[in-house]
Amino acid sequence: MREFVFEARLPRVVFGAGALARLPDELAALGIERALVVSTPGQRGLGERVAALLGARSVGVFARAAMHVPVELARAAAEEARRLGADGVVAVGGGSTTGLAKALALDPGLVIAAVPTTYAGSEATSGYGLTDAGLKKTGRDARVLPRLIVYDPELSLGLPFAISVVSMMNAIAHAAEGLYAPDANPVMDVMAEEGIRSGAAALDRLARDGRDVDARGDALVAAWLCGTVLGSTTIGLHHKLCHTLGGSFGLPHAEVHAVVLPHALAYNAPAAPEAMAKIERALAAASGFAPAPLPHASAAAAVFDLERRHGAPTSLAAIGMRAEDLDRAADLAMQNEYPNPRPLERDAIRALLQRAYDGVRPD
Ligand code: NAD
Repeated sequence: MREFVFEARLPRVVFGAGALARLPDELAALGIERALVVSTPGQRGLGERVAALLGARSVGVFARAAMHVPVELARAAAEEARRLGADGVVAVGGGSTTGLAKALALDPGLVIAAVPTTYAGSEATSGYGLTDAGLKKTGRDARVLPRLIVYDPELSLGLPFAISVVSMMNAIAHAAEGLYAPDANPVMDVMAEEGIRSGAAALDRLARDGRDVDARGDALVAAWLCGTVLGSTTIGLHHKLCHTLGGSFGLPHAEVHAVVLPHALAYNAPAAPEAMAKIERALAAASGFAPAPLPHASAAAAVFDLERRHGAPTSLAAIGMRAEDLDRAADLAMQNEYPNPRPLERDAIRALLQRAYDGVRPD
């Protein structure tokens, strides 16, 4: 019999086309009266729109969010938040922006309201990362879990398709690893399988029309489901490899997830047959939206095919990895103990990395 322990700690979610308009009332209900809006430089316009919507409830916009939250940036944002007397932070953007808000939840201790515009899923987790002198440190802390998520599909209509694809593969990776995590449970299984199905189906629809607001909505729901799985389960080989490759070799976050996922699944498949069957079932169910009927494929191959169909990068070489760094990457992946269905074997992980580097379709 499968034993499990389950405890839900989930943010309030407000979902709908145009849901952004409800943010002022939602912040009032949270008791936030002086919100600092954060965004990346590229999304400053949206950040300013949100600040204008909040009116006197906003103390300004900090539009300097950057990938992996450098500590200097976190300090500068904290200083600005103190100077402005902020009592809450509104993160408008992708995982980088949510990541900066999480740093502000730790210091100076602001309450977070997240308005996600990618599918990274960070808004649904209590995980955070900070990069100090090129080294990314991650942790979990209940304070960084947003109190509120506003999902408004209209805000991601302009998310370029190439970013939509890799970002969704990042989400699907959360769900896939959640299915074989040591703390998986029946509730998370259902959410993970549906997250994978609806995420893959949304991509096939977005490939036809990136401004399909219903498909954008389905993609955000998928991101929420997958992010919630990530927030409730323990990550394994796939996420660890991605953190190593992103953190130590500077590879782009979502793209690394897309490239590594099929190979991490192939590695774990012999030790996690039930999880693989669920991924296969989810992707087969999603394939009704694909341009042509798809033959049955293993979970690893089906993920690879989904990515290839949508033009995602499928090799580490294509996203800037150097062949001479593969050995060190394998060593780093072996360094810390972490749960994984198949034991970590240095030679097999080195071979996995070689296949990911070459972009070989797994069986
Ligand atoms: P990102 O936030 O860096 O966004 C990618 C780019 O897309 C940015 O330039 C951004 O300005 C732009 N962008 C975002 N939304 C847009 C939109 N709607 N239209 C046009 N452009 C838009 O990338 P990401 O993949 O969302 O997040 C990656 C970061 O999130 C990494 O640092 C990763 O470690 C972190 N992350 C953390 C967790 C967690 O649970 N803690 C989970 C997933 C990701």
